[in-house]
Amino acid sequence: MKAPPFAYARARSLAEVFDLLERHGGNSEGEGAKILAGGQSLMPALNLRLSSPALLIDISRLADHAGIQVKDGHVHIGALITHAAIGASADIRKHLPLLADAAEHIAHPAIRNRGTFGGSLAMADPAAEWPACCVALNAQIVLANKSGTRHVAAHDFFQGLYATAMQPGEVLTEVVIPIPAAGYRHAFMELARRRGDYAIVGVAALAKVSGGAFSDVRLVYLGASDTSVAARKTSQVFVLKGFFETSLKEAQQMLATELAPQADLYSSAAAKLHLAQVLTARVMKQLIACHPA
Ligand SMILES: Cc1cc2nc3c(=O)[nH]c(=O)nc-3n(C[C@H](O)[C@H](O)[C@H](O)COP(=O)(O)OP(=O)(O)OC[C@H]3O[C@@H](n4cnc5c(N)ncnc54)[C@H](O)[C@@H]3O)c2cc1C
Repeated sequence: MKAPPFAYARARSLAEVFDLLERHGGNSEGEGAKILAGGQSLMPALNLRLSSPALLIDISRLADHAGIQVKDGHVHIGALITHAAIGASADIRKHLPLLADAAEHIAHPAIRNRGTFGGSLAMADPAAEWPACCVALNAQIVLANKSGTRHVAAHDFFQGLYATAMQPGEVLTEVVIPIPAAGYRHAFMELARRRGDYAIVGVAALAKVSGGAFSDVRLVYLGASDTSVAARKTSQVFVLKGFFETSLKEAQQMLATELAPQADLYSSAAAKLHLAQVLTARVMKQLIACHPA
């Protein structure tokens, strides 16, 4: 199928984007105007006629929003940075290795070369890697409109299946992530039918470890509900009881109360839950082994 007809505007500034959004509007049915970033989700959706915007506002040339900056203990990631650029960045590898490890799980090189960090977050696919990583890293999502900017904590930003806290007229411009303190370790794992497919389930994990004890554990699951899930009670089991066979069993049972996986064409809900429990054991083993954040 081919995309329905649409008008196209390449924006030269954010001010122009706000102006076009205001003039052409836009709603959840995809009418009005829609932002086009890497096009790796939007163009397939148009081709399948799942959306029919009257105007695409191409923001891909807004160079001010395509960089990575480290300042004041935070990493600032522009919305237009591609998945591949995150995977290749020395700053990301040094300060946020969880993102560097997750990048290679996203689709294939052709998609990683065009798809953007901001586009993936705005899309809020429950099986996407970046939303889970942003929740685990306590990221702040920066949203801008013509009146100014606001910061939204990642765990408040993702609100359900393809649903976010973004309001009409807003553009996601940047993500600000605090650099984890010394002593934090990370692990990212997922299971997919074939390399490059969306994950069946996955987990982004961050933990503060000292002498074999955990003082902070953040296990955030993808593909296991209608949005990323920070399994706080499961994580807390390891903080309170350490990582042993008994605590692992208890945590795996707790996980069953925190996740709500949906069956799909390939996996039942029970199979997804089981895989999430298996991944929990694997990431905790990796976290306890020496693997600095
Ligand atoms: C075959 C295939 C496999 C894939 N596999 C994976 C995978 O394993 N993991 C994964 O995470 N993703 C996967 N993707 C999706 C890919 O990562 C996309 O790049 C990403 O979801 C969207 O980014 P984009 O820049 O292409 O956004 P676009 O497609 O341009 O836009 C997506 C949506 O976000 C909105 N949007 C984009 N940028 C902004 C912004 N800055 N502010 C506000 N709204 C914005 C658009 O209006 C649109 O609604 C896959 C895609 C394909 C085609």
